[in-house]
Amino acid sequence: MPAERVDFKSVRARVSMETVLSHYDVRLRRAGRDEFRGKCPLPAHSSARSNDSFSVSFTRNAWSCQSASCIAARSGRVGGDVFHFVAEMEGCSIREAALRLDRSLRENLLPPATSGNNGPVPSTPENRPLSFTLHNIDHQHPYLLARGLGEHTAGYFGVGYYNGSGFLRGRIVIPIHNEDDELVAYAGRAIDKTEPKYRLPAGFRKSHLLFNLHRAIRSGDRTLILVEGYFDTMKIHEAGHPNVAALMGSRLSSRQAELIGTYFDQVILMLDADRAGRAGTAAAATELSSILGVQIVELASGTQPDQLAPEEINQFLGLSHDLSTPER
Ligand SMILES: [Zn+2]
Repeated sequence: MPAERVDFKSVRARVSMETVLSHYDVRLRRAGRDEFRGKCPLPAHSSARSNDSFSVSFTRNAWSCQSASCIAARSGRVGGDVFHFVAEMEGCSIREAALRLDRSLRENLLPPATSGNNGPVPSTPENRPLSFTLHNIDHQHPYLLARGLGEHTAGYFGVGYYNGSGFLRGRIVIPIHNEDDELVAYAGRAIDKTEPKYRLPAGFRKSHLLFNLHRAIRSGDRTLILVEGYFDTMKIHEAGHPNVAALMGSRLSSRQAELIGTYFDQVILMLDADRAGRAGTAAAATELSSILGVQIVELASGTQPDQLAPEEINQFLGLSHDLSTPER
């Protein structure tokens, strides 16, 4: 059954914590410049002693409850955003919470935000599309061949050695697009031991997007293979799986989780088999399993997807085990 689509980003832009609190008739008192406090309204909250454990920031559009028993009852989550709040109040998944908010918005069921003395909630700056593209990129550079990346794949991803001017000079440049196919940045990979290993433009927010998400969406597959890095992505693509995207790190951000939930029904986590990758896998599995189905690929200790041959990648993807099915 195809899942109903929900655009987390657009719902989030239209629903504030203030609106949601007023919907549930939660009254808080001002406790700081951007802090409102009071009795925790969540059904999971059982402690009668903590009368002031619940706090909300309207500018960050976020909430938390500091009561240890309340946190434990919510699987260790201290707080969250509007979606997490509605999910806790309604006892539903994050995805279902977003769907309900979306419906309420369409049916004009939510009270208007009164915005108090806080003014409009500022939105987080986006990664703006670039007004230029880099030219003279060598897709056949020995570094790429050494990492097992064919010229065809390098050309397809626009990846190659850049010898022009600027902060990416002498590095392997990797174009990064947003989900709408707009070029927003180039990452620059050092080809020797130079630090930093990767250079990104100042102000670029990698937690706001996923590398290669636009192509994964275009593949039409409803399952996403999620990896850590650029080279993992390219190697998995080369093995015949265009439905792959990268976190550009080992930690999934809530924004990235929303993006995945917007476009996919299933996710296969294939992070590095090291300490950071395992921690990232556990955190991502927890976050994503309330939104969509999650499977985990366990690689041999110390390895990462970009070190695998295409046959090995296919073998691992065939062996991934089911962790959970999406909640209804
Ligand atoms: Zn609580």
